[in-house]
Order: sequence, then structure tokens, then C-alpha cells
Amino acid sequence: MANRMLSEAEGYELLQNYGVPTPAFQIVTGADEAAKAAAAIGYPVVMKIISPQIVHKSDAGGVIVGISGDGEAKKAFNSIVKSAKEYNPDAEITGVIVEEMARPGLELILGGKTDPAFGKVITFGMGGTLVELMKDVTLRILPIHDHEIRTMVKEINAYPLIAGYRGMKAKDEEALVEILTGIARFFEENQHVMEFDINPLRLYESGACAVDARIIVD
Ligand code: ADP
Ligand code: MG
Repeated sequence: MANRMLSEAEGYELLQNYGVPTPAFQIVTGADEAAKAAAAIGYPVVMKIISPQIVHKSDAGGVIVGISGDGEAKKAFNSIVKSAKEYNPDAEITGVIVEEMARPGLELILGGKTDPAFGKVITFGMGGTLVELMKDVTLRILPIHDHEIRTMVKEINAYPLIAGYRGMKAKDEEALVEILTGIARFFEENQHVMEFDINPLRLYESGACAVDARIIVD
């Protein structure tokens, strides 16, 4: 069977089982329902398109952050669906995900891929818009020991941003280690998962939150 991309909601649910914190969310299929879900979650919220054919949701006009009222929520729903249809008229639109808006934090990328020679590999690095440019990532072949995960975290060039740099407070390195340990176990225990990423994970002085999840299964 061909590979298939799980929805962000399915991704969040799977990853939660391995200790990855995610925003509260609901799936909706209409504008009124979107406003109801948003009010239930609590404003401000974020809305995003759900479509198996749309991998980069922002590119499709499929992400709106900072939605702060019922009127805005209805408009956002309609705008997201319209943009996605324009972006890819053949895309099957499953719905829209309404999420709690996470506060800003240090943006990191966590992921896994299956290397033809080495098998399952996990990756970790800096996130954000400059990541392509910086290539500040590190990787490990699975299985991996807990102490190796700690080493991995300290390996990226941007590590001072985690440890605390020039008056910036340290981030929750312990939470990050636990999440990396969780995703390594997730990847090892789920044979159908070929590839996945959390892009980004927001890391705080206390705790963290995944604000995107993409999982490819066979
Ligand atoms: P894409 O498919 O384009 O990668 P994302 O789900 O990563 O879409 O959303 C794009 C950006 O919007 C994220 O990188 C993040 O900065 C912001 N974002 C997404 N979801 C949330 C959220 N729940 N809370 C706060 N910011 C978010
Ligand atoms: Mg993303």
C-alpha cells in the first residue's frame, strides 16, 4: 500500500501516548461549529486545514493564528477552506482543526525517518524560519540509550539557547529529554510509522508544547 499522511489530530493523539504535550483541539466541518469549538477551547485559538494532500498547510493559506472571537472564527474557517481549495482543487478536505493557541517559546524540530541502510533514525534540531539555512540538526540511529539522548540535546549549535544565554533564562531541558525519549519509543514501537516530525515543538522555561505533527505510515 502507498504511504499515507495522518492528520495533525491523529498525530497529536498518537504522540500524547508517548508523553508529548499538545494543544487542546477539536475537528470541525462548518463555520458555526468552528466558532462553538473555539469558544469551548477558549480564545485565542489557531485553525488549520486538514487534508491528506496538503503537507505544508501554511503554503496553502491553511493556518490562521490569533483568532479571538466568534465572528473571526467563522471567517477564519471559510477563509482556510477557500484558500486550500484554490491551492489544490483536487485536495480532499477532511475538516479544520481548531486548537488552543500555544504561547511563544523556543522552536525546535523533532523527527524520525527510515534510512535504507541504518533503519530508524531520530533527528533533533532548531526550528523556526531559518532552520533550512542553519542546518543545526543532530541524529541518532535507534535503539538509543537515555544518556545518549542527553548528549544529543547538548550537541546542536543552538544549545546555549536551551541552557540559558546572556541573561535569557534556561529552558526546560528535562522536558525536552523526556519528549525525545518518548518519540524514540514511539518510533520503535510503531512498525507502520515510516517518517514523522514535530515542527515545531515549543520549549518553555517550564514544559513544552508540540504545535504541529506530521506522521507518514505505510
Ligand atoms: P505547516 O504545515 O505550515 O508547517 P504548522 O501547523 O506548523 O503548519 O503551523 C504554522 C505555524 O503556525 C507554526 O510553525 C507555529 O509557529 C504556528 N502555530 C501553529 N499551531 C499553533 C498553535 N496551536 N499555537 C501557536 N502557534 C501555532
Ligand atoms: Mg509545521
